[in-house]
Amino acid sequence: MTLHPKKWFLARVGKTIRRNENKCCPTCDKISKNGITIRDSNHADYLYNLQLEFAQDGHPLNYRDGK
Ligand SMILES: [Zn+2]
Repeated sequence: MTLHPKKWFLARVGKTIRRNENKCCPTCDKISKNGITIRDSNHADYLYNLQLEFAQDGHPLNYRDGK
């Protein structure tokens, strides 16, 4: 499982990152197909916390750089 420090997300504001499928909802399906673009530092903070919550629930998202 890959967990990134907050600065990893902050360094990618304005960029699109990818993550694992997690079979949560249609929005998550779309994100796992298309990636998600980090809008600003608040969004980076949100994604940082989200990866920790999912990891604690046993569903690592493994965020990574998009193509
Ligand atoms: Zn979802």
